[in-house]
Amino acid sequence: MPGEHPRHPGHRVVHVHRTHSGLHGPEDRLRRRHHPRPARQRRPHPGHRPHFTRIFPPHIRKAITARDQGCAFPACTIPATWCEAHHITYWSHGGPTGTDNGTFLCSHHHHLIHKENWTIQVKTGIPWFIPPPHIDPHQKPRRNHDRT
Ligand SMILES: [Zn+2]
Repeated sequence: MPGEHPRHPGHRVVHVHRTHSGLHGPEDRLRRRHHPRPARQRRPHPGHRPHFTRIFPPHIRKAITARDQGCAFPACTIPATWCEAHHITYWSHGGPTGTDNGTFLCSHHHHLIHKENWTIQVKTGIPWFIPPPHIDPHQKPRRNHDRT
């Protein structure tokens, strides 16, 4: 009877595999065995889209090093190699991962900025630190004068 499965009379033949052709064909299965994680390998390099990654890529770290030379917090002398790149406008608030939104802070000052809620503004290439009201009621901006 036409439309019946040849080995299972009474079962209708339904071509469910039609849309899978090319995805689950024998050649593809073979390729998959050799490259078990093709999707991961095809993922674009994060450095190509620096503003979409939370980690500062090397060329931006280099630009920040040239500008800040080390921890940018007032009176701190910790060199850049020991510093962490900090998002001036937090990544979680939509701040980009770029030179203008990054500054170097040593581990101590990085924690302090977050804990005490300091504000940082980059003006003409110099990071200025604005203390929270409970540290300075006038919130006078200050900078690290040890850096040029
Ligand atoms: Zn510091």
